[in-house]
Amino acid sequence: MRENELLSIENLEIKYILRRSTVNAVNGISFTINKGERVGLVGETGAGKTTTALSILKLIPEPPGKITNGKIMLGGRNLMETSEKEMRKIRGNDVSMVFQDPMTSLSPVMTVGDQIMEVVLLHNDMSKSEAALRAREMLELVGIPGERYAEYPHQFSGGMKQRVLIAIALACNPKLLIADEPTSALDVTIQAQVLELIAELREKFNMSLLLITHDLGVVSETCDRIMIMYAGRIVESGPVRTVYKNMQHPYTIGLFNSLPRLDIDTDRLEPIKGMMPDPANLPAGCAFHQRCPQADERCAQELPPLTEMENGHCIACFHAIDKERSDG
Ligand code: SF4
Repeated sequence: MRENELLSIENLEIKYILRRSTVNAVNGISFTINKGERVGLVGETGAGKTTTALSILKLIPEPPGKITNGKIMLGGRNLMETSEKEMRKIRGNDVSMVFQDPMTSLSPVMTVGDQIMEVVLLHNDMSKSEAALRAREMLELVGIPGERYAEYPHQFSGGMKQRVLIAIALACNPKLLIADEPTSALDVTIQAQVLELIAELREKFNMSLLLITHDLGVVSETCDRIMIMYAGRIVESGPVRTVYKNMQHPYTIGLFNSLPRLDIDTDRLEPIKGMMPDPANLPAGCAFHQRCPQADERCAQELPPLTEMENGHCIACFHAIDKERSDG
């Protein structure tokens, strides 16, 4: 690992081995996240984003899930060789995750303050009263008055519950925060507040952020770098500005074209035609070729490798790579 790297994933493959089929959820992805860096992971449902995130916490349900290849290094530690006991310390202390749905992530029978305190106690050598004080501070940090410590999740709105989850995730000052669609279950007006809160706290604690979303607008406002995932592979990645100005992969272009835009007068959005292939039955060649307007024979036979062009811009598409090379 380079000195500035916090997370390094190399050639990661994850499968879900079922009785009648094998689901190829993640198919050989490699990426790094630097200390303090904010990275957006974007793609349709089923692209393998959440499975990738869960693998960093070693929370892939096994069986049926299995990491079949690859290496995950976090802060110089090889997580593939880390015991479950050590992982319990790493979760929360080094890496934390905010999940999509605050309703199902909190215990309904414990006060929110106690739920934060429990995490603090698990990871720190503190007395109960010190941990309770820390839990109260965390509540206030995420904009919830400390007096609400003894209330239960059902007494909070969706946005407030998500704030509680953020407080739990940050209670032990993790080096990496993974936020998996943290606002998708919330009203639009609350979404912006929660994202702003994550951005503020990330900056305050100088954490790295892996933000999983299908919202390209959120990535442009929140992240330094973007990775586009399709059928378990990264198909385009790079600094946010570079990719947004010069997107090259037909899938990335399709994602952008399916967004509503204020600067273009149009009656209809242009969704990407077709469906993502069944991960239990991926086609040969480029997994996007059945939906790609530029596909040719080669695309149906060979897998385009993720290739670095200029300024850290990486693309996995034969045509885009040829075009960039001839333009460059
Ligand atoms: Fe389309 Fe071929 Fe590029 Fe895949 S490699 S995105 S099928 S042009």
